[in-house]
Amino acid sequence: RHPSLPVNDLGYTRADYEGAISTLCAGCGHDSISGSIVRACHELSLEPHKIAKLSGIGCSSKSPTYFLGKSHGFNSVHGRMPSVVTGAAMANRDLLYLGVSGDGDTASIGMGQFAHAIRRNLNMVYIVMNNGCYGLTKGQDSATADEGSASKKGDPNPFGAIDLPGLALQLGATFVARSFSGDKEQLVPLIKAAMSHRGFALIDVVSPCVTFNNNSASTKSYEFVREHAEATGTVDFVPMREEITTSYEPGHSQEVTMHDGSVLRLRKMAEDLDPFDRGSAMMALEASRSSGQILTGLIYMDKDSADLHEVLNTSRRPLNTLAEEDLCP
Ligand code: SF4
Ligand code: MG
Repeated sequence: RHPSLPVNDLGYTRADYEGAISTLCAGCGHDSISGSIVRACHELSLEPHKIAKLSGIGCSSKSPTYFLGKSHGFNSVHGRMPSVVTGAAMANRDLLYLGVSGDGDTASIGMGQFAHAIRRNLNMVYIVMNNGCYGLTKGQDSATADEGSASKKGDPNPFGAIDLPGLALQLGATFVARSFSGDKEQLVPLIKAAMSHRGFALIDVVSPCVTFNNNSASTKSYEFVREHAEATGTVDFVPMREEITTSYEPGHSQEVTMHDGSVLRLRKMAEDLDPFDRGSAMMALEASRSSGQILTGLIYMDKDSADLHEVLNTSRRPLNTLAEEDLCP
């Protein structure tokens, strides 16, 4: 370890949160998201062994190999990552569960799993690395490809896209955000906020596939997203309340204290968006989409709904430490 590298409260450098060298294509958005996860975990001084990273199948689902090398990990079956997280969370609720998935893994084969993880408010951060195509199988359109968008070698997509934040809102998600792999200043605080959220936290991250879907006719290209991203505002994540030192504009900012005591400062949220009102969030998403924009940032949060553990009254102790009479009262 180089002595000049900054260390966090645990004495770890950012390198302590990295994983293996990436084998993804140079410039793939997924590597930037991995970098944002590393940065968020380092800045929050999280213990890597208290994090479990899980994924399905796809280029995106290979990504957990490239971050948090000292955490728990499970690369599962296509679209079935939420079931594995559910089982793991039931056995040990004290880990931070970080699921990584792709648009094919989530919006096609994994749609049922995605829907029911949301409906149960499963305690997890669910990051979709969304490039609108099946990168691992050479760039076919996925269910999140926009109508009329065309990948490098494809015809314009004739079908409408599934909008994952909109769908998650309809399913009752308690934390919904969207970001862009090329905007770490926005993405890192959103990841921190999602990690402190109690319940299911979705971050849909537009993450261009440079090999198959970064051309001028694609709505998931770097150029298109940079031109059409429309931020709801900014989120500052403050781990401890007493660290707040700066002022904010009245009427355009809010402070929210999370269950773990951290504070979110929401600044300059769009005038027509109340991120604590589901209907308002749905309307803001639709207004943005129908004007050809991509709404990013925190879209909705409900920090007070019961999570899966509260609903089922699960024990805080791992299952393997419980006596038989605890399991069968
Ligand atoms: Fe990334 Fe696309 Fe390459 Fe897969 S094929 S690693 S999604 S750039
Ligand atoms: Mg994809």
